[in-house]
Amino acid sequence: MKLAIGILGTLLVFAQLGEAQTKDSSALRNPGDITPLVEADRESYAVFGATPAQERALRAQIRLMHPEVLPLRVFFVPHSKYIDNARIFQLHVPTGYASLMFTHLPSRTVFIDNDRYIGEDWLGHWIAHELGHLAKNSPKEEDAEKAAREFRKCLKDPGNK
Ligand SMILES: [Zn+2]
Repeated sequence: MKLAIGILGTLLVFAQLGEAQTKDSSALRNPGDITPLVEADRESYAVFGATPAQERALRAQIRLMHPEVLPLRVFFVPHSKYIDNARIFQLHVPTGYASLMFTHLPSRTVFIDNDRYIGEDWLGHWIAHELGHLAKNSPKEEDAEKAAREFRKCLKDPGNK
């Protein structure tokens, strides 16, 4: 029963965010967008709830970090939704990590607390941590941080791959 409630809650969030995404994505598709097809294919993860600027920054950062394992979807959510989802996914993280982003590894879904968003540097720093969880396929913070350190080097020096 607990699981059923969890799934229902998730679907509600997905439905709401899906609506928001429809509005945002029209603004993103413009004739000047000449992203090569191959690159677009490789980056076929979905971003929900982000402003066009946030989505652009996120995709640029992930492209620079070039992770072997991409998320399938990234949700920018208000704090209350973030807390709901953390509960739905029965998130258990040490204090200090819980309040910004988390990754649900089985579904490769990243949640970002959009009320904590303070800019693109913040985004790059913490998304590197989440990509670290995905790269190591590990819920351990030490594993994620180890991989994140390498990813962050790519952010600082894009020429150094
Ligand atoms: Zn973590």
